[in-house]
Amino acid sequence: MDKVDTVIIGAGVVGLAVARALALTGREVMVLEAADAIGTGTSSRNSEVIHAGIYYAAGSLKARLCVAGRALLYRYCGERGIAHRRCGKLVVATSDDQVPQLQSIIAKAAANGVNDLAFLTASAAQTMEPHLSCVAAIHSPSTGIVDSHGLMLSLQGDMENAGGMVAFNTTVSGATIRDDGIVLRMNDGTELLAQRVVNCAGLHAPTLASRFEGLDASHVPTAYFAKGNYFTLAGRSPFSRLIYPVPQAAGLGVHLTLDLGGQAKFGPDVQWVDSADDLLVDPKRGDAFYAEVRKYWPALADGALQPGYAGIRPKINSAAEPARDFVIEGPAAHGVKGLVNLFGIESPGLTSSLAIGDYVAALLDG
Ligand SMILES: Cc1cc2nc3c(=O)[nH]c(=O)nc-3n(C[C@H](O)[C@H](O)[C@H](O)COP(=O)(O)OP(=O)(O)OC[C@H]3O[C@@H](n4cnc5c(N)ncnc54)[C@H](O)[C@@H]3O)c2cc1C
Repeated sequence: MDKVDTVIIGAGVVGLAVARALALTGREVMVLEAADAIGTGTSSRNSEVIHAGIYYAAGSLKARLCVAGRALLYRYCGERGIAHRRCGKLVVATSDDQVPQLQSIIAKAAANGVNDLAFLTASAAQTMEPHLSCVAAIHSPSTGIVDSHGLMLSLQGDMENAGGMVAFNTTVSGATIRDDGIVLRMNDGTELLAQRVVNCAGLHAPTLASRFEGLDASHVPTAYFAKGNYFTLAGRSPFSRLIYPVPQAAGLGVHLTLDLGGQAKFGPDVQWVDSADDLLVDPKRGDAFYAEVRKYWPALADGALQPGYAGIRPKINSAAEPARDFVIEGPAAHGVKGLVNLFGIESPGLTSSLAIGDYVAALLDG
């Protein structure tokens, strides 16, 4: 049986950031990826927003890793020439009853160390974005957008320069935890003995972990899938900043994001689905988008929205349960030497990726 020091399962942005961090510490690193390319999962089906870290509960992993990851990401993109823009965003209240929510977002952000938010009156917000309709807003200057594929290619390059590699078309089907390491089984029947395994399989991480013989089932959450559909705007974007409504259950509301080419898209909505492969956008869902978007952009013309793409949030709570924090468990939590599982790495996972890499490296080092 072949042997390797450290295996990372999954070459999404999180798996690649973890692999890079571990390779830079001098470990022998191999990434096993089921697809034939990097970043074909959730990492290429998101909003590409660099989040400031303003919504998450103080002290949560989402808050800590987002704020730390955002700073690391801006620095890394600057150093490596990865396309990104610190365009800022407005969170808008479109009725008087939402204004207290803006105040509580400012307080929550401050508890997370994000102190650059500014409360804006409607006229101040409309001076920044003349097409906007709102009763008040918050300006977040440190929110931005990033080329997620450029980021992933750079992470892969760093990891490979440090001696690591990615094995494509390699699906891990299960594992057995032994005294001499963790034996990983592939779909084609081959086996690999690793001293350390990091499960970054995204939507499939819980199912995969449930097939790790020797890991207590109480450390494996149930996977749920919350699809987010996007609709793109035909023509020029009327806004130069990202525009978000106040957050709603299970998501951040149907917001406007921009890509680096200036194209605007709206989404993601929230549609709980049974399968991680349910990625088609139903054009009929666009009807609800018009109503949501017109709350802050009344001039949206009929027929201006086209079905775009969808991504699926790797949830570890059902629609009926409260949202959960990232779960990143190492040996101290589950008792298995050399194993780290990452569950529920939904938004802000892209923003947090570099900080997650450092966090996992620290968990494995003791
Ligand atoms: C709609 C939506 C919008 C989002 N917007 C943002 C945003 O604007 N900003 C932000 O910070 N975050 C955002 N996120 C979150 C972010 O996209 C994710 O946190 C991040 O992409 C997760 O990366 P990952 O590497 O964990 O997972 P993935 O990208 O899904 O990668 C997992 C990889 O594991 C592979 N794999 C799975 N099973 C196996 C197996 N058995 N063997 C081998 N390989 C396997 C898959 O093929 C895949 O390549 C958004 C998420 C969604 C769904």
